[in-house]
Amino acid sequence: MSKEKLSKINKILIKHYGLPRQENPEPDPLDILIATILSQNTNDRNSYKSFLNLKKKYPDWKACARAEITSLEEPIKSAGFSHPKARAIKEILNYLLENYGKVSLDFLKDMDTDRAIESLTSHKGIGIKTAQCVMMFAFHRNVCPVDRHIFRALNRIGVIKATTPEKTSLQLNKILPEASAHSLHANLIRFGREICRQTLPNCSICPLLEICEYDNKNLTEVNEYKGGTFLLLDHVG
Ligand code: SF4
Repeated sequence: MSKEKLSKINKILIKHYGLPRQENPEPDPLDILIATILSQNTNDRNSYKSFLNLKKKYPDWKACARAEITSLEEPIKSAGFSHPKARAIKEILNYLLENYGKVSLDFLKDMDTDRAIESLTSHKGIGIKTAQCVMMFAFHRNVCPVDRHIFRALNRIGVIKATTPEKTSLQLNKILPEASAHSLHANLIRFGREICRQTLPNCSICPLLEICEYDNKNLTEVNEYKGGTFLLLDHVG
C-alpha cells in the first residue's frame, strides 16, 4: 500500500480524463442518501429513473416518511428490490422525524467523518459504501466509496491488495491523499468501465500501464469503449 503511488494514479487519471465535476456541488444530503440506497444492486439508469419517480410522487421527503411502504414500492420498482429499499428509506426518514423533528441530515455536518458513517450505518439498508457516498458527495469529506470497478482496478494495479471491495475500502481510505476522494472515485469508475474492464482490459492504451503490476495484462488491441459514462450521484440533488 502506498500513498505516493495512489497520488500518482490520481494525477495520471486527472491528466487523462480531467478533473471530474460534481454537477450539483451542494446537493441535499438526503437526496444523495436515498439515491444511493436506490442504486444498490442495479445500474445507474434504473436507479436514477426510480429516484426521479420517487421525487415526482413525493417532492417533500416528509410526505414520503408518512406514506405506506407499499406506496413507495411502485415508483422505485425499476431499481429492483423495491420492498427492502422502500423499507430502508421509510425507516431512515421516520428516524429523522422522530429524533430531529425534521427530515434532514444536517446533524451530520459538524460530525467527525467516522462517527457520521457509524451513525448512518446503524440503520438497516445503509451500508458502508452508501454512508461514504453521503459523506463524500454531500459533505465533501475525503472518503472514497469503493465499487466493483475501483476494487478491480486498484487491486490489478497493485496499490491495494485485498479480496473484496469492503477490504479495499478499508485499506484505500487509510492512505487516501488529501482532497483526492472525489477525483479518484469518479475517474477510477470511468477507468474501470472503459479501460480496465472485467474481461479484456485494454492495457495497450492504458495510461497506468507503466506502474501496473497485473500479471495478466492484455496488450492486444481491443475496440475502445463506446458507451457513455454516467455517474448517478454527480447528477442527483
Ligand atoms: S495495464 Fe491493464 S490491468 Fe493494468 S491498470 Fe491498465 S488496463 Fe488495468
